[in-house]
Amino acid sequence: MGTVQEVRIAKRTGFCYGVREAIDKAKEASAAGKLTHTLGQVVHNEGVIQDLEAMNIHTVDTLDDVDHGAAVVIRAHGVRPDVMERANARGLEVIDGTCTWVVQEQKELARLVDDGYTIVLLGTPKHPEVVGLLGFAPDAIVVDEEEEWEANIPRKKRMALISQSTQPPWKFEKLAAFMVNRSHELKIVNTVCPVTIRRQQDTVEAARQVDLMVVVGGRSSANTKELTRLCGIVGTPAIQIEGDRDLTEEAPFEGTTVVGVTGGTSTPIEDLHAVARRILELAGTPEASARAAELADAALAAAATPAGRTTSLPATSAASTRGAA
Ligand code: SF4
Repeated sequence: MGTVQEVRIAKRTGFCYGVREAIDKAKEASAAGKLTHTLGQVVHNEGVIQDLEAMNIHTVDTLDDVDHGAAVVIRAHGVRPDVMERANARGLEVIDGTCTWVVQEQKELARLVDDGYTIVLLGTPKHPEVVGLLGFAPDAIVVDEEEEWEANIPRKKRMALISQSTQPPWKFEKLAAFMVNRSHELKIVNTVCPVTIRRQQDTVEAARQVDLMVVVGGRSSANTKELTRLCGIVGTPAIQIEGDRDLTEEAPFEGTTVVGVTGGTSTPIEDLHAVARRILELAGTPEASARAAELADAALAAAATPAGRTTSLPATSAASTRGAA
């Protein structure tokens, strides 16, 4: 028999504003009757991609897949400047969904290049945001894990440090401290996104109040993995899943009374709601299990803030269950 009495969703979860805006722009273009594509998955979430497909918004891998005159949405991570130029040159209607924070990063990087700094970029190599950023600073040295720093970061007179938006703040601070000794002049441009910081704070706060955390997000999502790691640091066991379908057994919840749910910046808050409901159905006490839908709604209502909305636009397709939060 299940033991879970309550599920709490961490506050300020759901899509970050950058992802939300890019999705909104794609929906707006499609609703205006434009043949709409997104260059790469606008968010790494299969449910959302399917919803967008149902609205006739298709994901393409390259600009060559978009017909002349059609609309192409640049996702929140941004792209290299030459990709933008090529889209314009091909006569596509470019809808720039690059997050304003990422645009700021790109500008800062270009300035550092102009000022002649040797640039170190803390980021996940090959991540689309990092690939886009490198278009503004092709010689920047990308570093990720601490073990690589010693071998890859040179000693130079003038160095600058900048970050991919979703890197953990502690890692950025540690790297800044590491670089102090390797340069005469060190310029630090802190571009860790405030949404990332808030998400981590709210997850830690939720983790402190529950017996078990369920972290929802893409398996390869760095910011999701970081949330799982932080729960561990707080001392709360955590399991990481991609969605409610991954919850098939009661075992992980045995003996727990209150369970917390959080998610990465690409996870819609509706997915957290579905996970909350699934936990209650699967591992709730008889009473909680019988009221699973109602309790999950209450958890969502307690967590949802404007920042937690999936999108500011109503769903434009009856097939969609997302978008109205
Ligand atoms: S994490 Fe921050 S910088 Fe990155 S897309 Fe979201 S809001 Fe923008």
